Amino acid sequence: MKTISVVIPAFNEEECITAVIEKLKDILDPLNYAYEVIIVDDGSKDRTFEVIKEQAKIHPFLKGIRLSRNMGHQAALDCGLKNSRGDAVISMDADLQHPPELIPQMIKLWEDGNEIVYTQKLENQDSTLLYKLWAKTFYSMFNRYSQIKLTPAGSDFRLMGRKSLEAVLSMPEYHKFYRGLVPFVGFKSTTISFDVQKRFAGKRKYNFKQSMRL
Ligand code: UDP
Ligand code: MG
Repeated sequence: MKTISVVIPAFNEEECITAVIEKLKDILDPLNYAYEVIIVDDGSKDRTFEVIKEQAKIHPFLKGIRLSRNMGHQAALDCGLKNSRGDAVISMDADLQHPPELIPQMIKLWEDGNEIVYTQKLENQDSTLLYKLWAKTFYSMFNRYSQIKLTPAGSDFRLMGRKSLEAVLSMPEYHKFYRGLVPFVGFKSTTISFDVQKRFAGKRKYNFKQSMRL
């Protein structure tokens, strides 16, 4: 039986962890796959890791990794992907803004021969005008100067087959920017759109400085 991995970076998400695990269980149980859920606690100051440990006693499919300090979303994602074992690996956020209901469709598209399934954000109910302008500027500048074209409103909610994931992981960059590196490796892909959901709980963890650095 093939295995699906779901990789989730989490920073101060104590209120979201249980909800995201339960939701994923509901979605993944009926599918004809073994699965693992890997949550990488990115040096949280709250009870995120305690909640992961409590949940791991109930759910054998859950694996928790705790980083020694807050390394940032992309580094936490990188750590989770490196520790994944699945034939297909899905990355998503902890706050349920990336709807897990899309996962069966993503898996179907992978089964149909797509090595990578990207997602593109439609509406973001949580986004301010300033943030939208900021994101638009980032994508238009990036696409103007880089040979790799990013999907505007792209996201780190995506599925990668083992082949493309190994290609990305083999790259020596220390600071990985997954939204750029995944299209860089090529492979047959497709994109689906989704409405960004409201955060399940808590506030946005990315501050302006982190976005700027990214
Ligand atoms: N995150 C992380 N480390 C950080 C900041 C964020 O692991 O330093 C995680 C966060 O817990 C969430 C995901 O990255 O699962 C996206 O963060 P957030 O929801 O704050 O960003 P937004 O969705 O608003 O762009
Ligand atoms: Mg979010």
